[in-house]
Amino acid sequence: MSKVVVINVRDRVTHPSHPIPPADLGYLVKYLKRMNYSVTFLDLIEGDEKFNLVKRIKASHFIIKPGIKSFPFCEKLAAEIKGEKKAKVIFVGPVAKVFLRRLVKNKNIDSIAYGEYEFVLPRLLKNTPKIINAPLRKDISSIGTFDRSIFHKNYFIWYPTKKVRRKKFGFILFSRGCPHSCYFCSEVERASIGKVVRSRDAHDVIKEIKYLKSLGVNTVYFFDDNFLVDKKNAEELLELLSKNNFNIEFVCQTRPDYINERVAKKLRRAGFSTVCLGIESFSDRSLYNMNKGIDSKTCKRAVKILKRFKFRVVIFLIIGTPNETILDVKKTFNTTLKLKPDLIQVSFFTPLPGSPIFEKLKIGPLKEWGIHDNIPINLSKIPTEILPMIQRLFYLKFYLLSSAFFRLILDTPIFLLNAKIYLILIKEFLNFLLGR
Ligand code: SF4
Repeated sequence: MSKVVVINVRDRVTHPSHPIPPADLGYLVKYLKRMNYSVTFLDLIEGDEKFNLVKRIKASHFIIKPGIKSFPFCEKLAAEIKGEKKAKVIFVGPVAKVFLRRLVKNKNIDSIAYGEYEFVLPRLLKNTPKIINAPLRKDISSIGTFDRSIFHKNYFIWYPTKKVRRKKFGFILFSRGCPHSCYFCSEVERASIGKVVRSRDAHDVIKEIKYLKSLGVNTVYFFDDNFLVDKKNAEELLELLSKNNFNIEFVCQTRPDYINERVAKKLRRAGFSTVCLGIESFSDRSLYNMNKGIDSKTCKRAVKILKRFKFRVVIFLIIGTPNETILDVKKTFNTTLKLKPDLIQVSFFTPLPGSPIFEKLKIGPLKEWGIHDNIPINLSKIPTEILPMIQRLFYLKFYLLSSAFFRLILDTPIFLLNAKIYLILIKEFLNFLLGR
């Protein structure tokens, strides 16, 4: 039986971030096992000491999924593997696609696979072509669950939920694809790829939730880019969830324009406690300059509806958007404080490789990559050195000097029961604020 090592290399970031399982690798492992490969999965962070482990493992193939920051590190890893072993090294995923030209010239890399590679690569391992540009599957209704034996305790979320209990997390992918064209967004930062929306069969997802429940899972995060994007199927799933009454808290992320009272009611009945919204800004100018396709009124309305239905609301914001001024940021800041979400995340506008703005402006290789902790390129009217200060002020004012602080205090029992994960968050957040 041939042995394959699958390595996920996460970027090392200074901004707190919780790890979301890489579904593509989960599916890859599932299909490799089906083809009788013996698979070792390593989930590592750039520079991790566990990399020494890699040198000791004997395998026929090393499949590496690099992050955008950890890419040079992964190239070194490939050189080390090739230096000591006869194994084949395959780079996979959207970051490998972004660096395709460079990888093709790299003698240490035997193959590069992207697209929905996870479904085709297992069949091609014996005779791997240099480039595998796997087409997106038209239909993912029956792909079932990924191999979750590889996603154990390493994965959790910090998003607030409601029930006072020790959380046991489960992650589910319901749909893939996003039809929108926000200028900054690309597959390198998304859970799924492609513009065409495809979703799993709702009954199949229910089966998966029953399985998770049998494992003791009580908090499930749908990590789709936009859980509600396939309206019809999402609503069918919500109906089925309501009927099953799982006593599980569900969390999802979506766009503000997919939220209305009817949907909020359905989400509530289905057991969702938390909704994360990709708001990005409450300034119409900034939203327009990001090609977000929504206005600030829609964003405010979505938060208000969700608050009215007593959801925990998480909002993702972006500062430093093209041509953005301090006044735009102020508008976003003040509106955020007024709307009182439960958690905010403030990122810097980053034209991700492969994004519409990256292609349009023909942005070349950038030395640093960031989203929350670096400003690789500043297209706003705000000086680069001021943006990190604004981000920290935003956080400090929101978490310590607004009503969010009292909501955090009220959640103390949840924090205590889940101290293990929240201590990581507090430590990472303090380190971030102190610039360590
Ligand atoms: S930011 Fe969200 S809505 Fe916009 S393109 Fe990316 S995934 Fe789609």
